[in-house]
Amino acid sequence: MAEKRTIIEPFRIKMTESIKMTTEAEREKILKDAHYNLFLVPAEDCCIDLLTDSGTGAMSDKQWAALMLGDESYAYSKSWFKFESVVREITGMKHIFPTHQGRAAESILVQVAVKQGDVIPNNCHFDTTRANIEFAGAKAIDCVADEGLNPGNMLPFKGDVDIDKLKKCIGKNSNKIPFGMITVTNNTGGGQPVSMKNIKAVKTLLQKNDIPLIIDACRFAENVYFIHEREDEYKNKSIIEIAQEMFSYADGVIMSCKKDGIANIGGFFACNNNKLAENFKNILILREGFPTYGGLAGRDLEAISVGLKEALEYDYQRYRHATMEYLGSRLEKIGIPFVKPVGGHAVFLDAKAFLPHIEPLTYPGIGLINALYINGSIRSVEIGTVMFGRFNEYGNEQPAPVELVRLAFPRRVYTQSHFDYLIEVIEEVWRMKEKITGYKIIKQPKFLRHFSCHFEPLK
Ligand SMILES: *Cc1c(COP(=O)(O)O)cnc(C)c1O
Repeated sequence: MAEKRTIIEPFRIKMTESIKMTTEAEREKILKDAHYNLFLVPAEDCCIDLLTDSGTGAMSDKQWAALMLGDESYAYSKSWFKFESVVREITGMKHIFPTHQGRAAESILVQVAVKQGDVIPNNCHFDTTRANIEFAGAKAIDCVADEGLNPGNMLPFKGDVDIDKLKKCIGKNSNKIPFGMITVTNNTGGGQPVSMKNIKAVKTLLQKNDIPLIIDACRFAENVYFIHEREDEYKNKSIIEIAQEMFSYADGVIMSCKKDGIANIGGFFACNNNKLAENFKNILILREGFPTYGGLAGRDLEAISVGLKEALEYDYQRYRHATMEYLGSRLEKIGIPFVKPVGGHAVFLDAKAFLPHIEPLTYPGIGLINALYINGSIRSVEIGTVMFGRFNEYGNEQPAPVELVRLAFPRRVYTQSHFDYLIEVIEEVWRMKEKITGYKIIKQPKFLRHFSCHFEPLK
């Protein structure tokens, strides 16, 4: 029997959360009251919330059942042993430490392993990783291949590290690199995957220079599925086998379980080095808690243990990637500009190409996300001049290299009709794009302005 063309959600729904419907007139007022900044709009007033895929996933019945088994003993609870065994099965790491989320693991790792003046290469550093490294007085260097940053380039592994760039970085900074990193998938670079071939090449190069490799594994399962689909030798391997091979090249793993842990909170650090583990543990106790719970409740450890395994189910990954592909192919047909190929967790609209009449310094990304909200109650996020907020030495604002709008998809939350609705909204906004105006900022804080600044539409 031939395989069916329709890839269905591999689950059915046994609990629902209702969505509030609002009218366009109501949304105009809601947005105005929020100073035209979608971060300041109540979640309840967003019909489809695509702000982030972090911690927003739906737990399965097995995860909810596991919550009830949470052992809240302070030390060496039953839930800890389950968590440890799942993380060890997947990563093969000797030492495993839960943390309350990914950035807590990052900050402790940086505290114990990074000195002022150090340099940490990565394909692209995620913003909290970069912030933690820079806070320690070290440099976070992005070594992704140039092709990876070109939005129109249809390449299978745009998250790959450029080995020459990495070589140069090592050559220039000998003895200043405590570890190298690879982020799978490359979140900052559009959720693009890294090939096993590239991971091996990075490992070989780092090993030659006695530099350990830390994998930022937030979306490891999505990355593994891409390897399964796009690298021939892995076609017949199971998702978990590929994950195990990927981690076999790492000396440490950092993870936010709010992504491919399909949990609402949690993270971990894992490594093989005894000394590093000892140092990490000492700070963990100071900051997060006893090393067997690290800032999490026993029930969280249970939910993560189940979620990590569910993220490795082939049918789940196949469906997850099919939703991104479906959205991408429909947008392509309409002629909407977006970053290609689609990532593992998000689709990025190219706001600069969508709204060429809006100058970068009047924020085309904000024009687009606000239009999507007014038209269809969709919440998305600008990744462009507002988010990067750069100023030159004279205090003049500088445009960002790209103006993107990220539509990030919570795991197992929205069905195909939600996607169809989203496509209809994007298409309607596309048809009236000339009417969309730019914005000016009328109030902004010094750092991370996108979260709280106030806008006003230009006439
Ligand atoms: C989310 C994320 C982090 C940080 O994790 P939090 O749980 O949000 O603290 C680090 N790296 C990457 C690639 C991420 O996507």
